[in-house]
Amino acid sequence: MVPPSLHLLGVTVLVAVILFPLPIRAADNPKALSPRTATLRGKVVSLAPLLDKFGARLDRDAAAQWMAFVTEDGTIYPLIKDDATRMFFQDHSLQNRPMQLTGRLIPGSQLLQAQEVRSIVNGQLCEVYYWCDICSIRRSEKKICECCGGPMILREDPVKK
Ligand SMILES: [Zn+2]
Repeated sequence: MVPPSLHLLGVTVLVAVILFPLPIRAADNPKALSPRTATLRGKVVSLAPLLDKFGARLDRDAAAQWMAFVTEDGTIYPLIKDDATRMFFQDHSLQNRPMQLTGRLIPGSQLLQAQEVRSIVNGQLCEVYYWCDICSIRRSEKKICECCGGPMILREDPVKK
């Protein structure tokens, strides 16, 4: 059996090689090794249909684990699934609608590690989080409230300037 972490690494490398064969060389260049921070606007979508267009078919298990941020100019940034982006995997209502992500671009690739997620509702930037009204608990992902066991609901509050 391949340990899950190695399997994920394999998928990561595979996706990177499929999408971005040339920039891998940047790894040889020390100057290119510091991640660049970027604030981008676009939509979070499943990566698999995007790859399909290029004749690359993700395995079913991998397809469920890969989403991409497609910016307004059509650039595809595969998203690193972690604390910041898990919400997109759990809550389909956040997919395919205007978002602003701020994060780090992994050198030599277009992999995006999001650090801040904002939705854009009626042209206004909003914080995105999940809330339990009973316990007044806020979380960054959709889950059952660990305090009362009730559902947490999605909230999007305009960012205060
Ligand atoms: Zn609760």
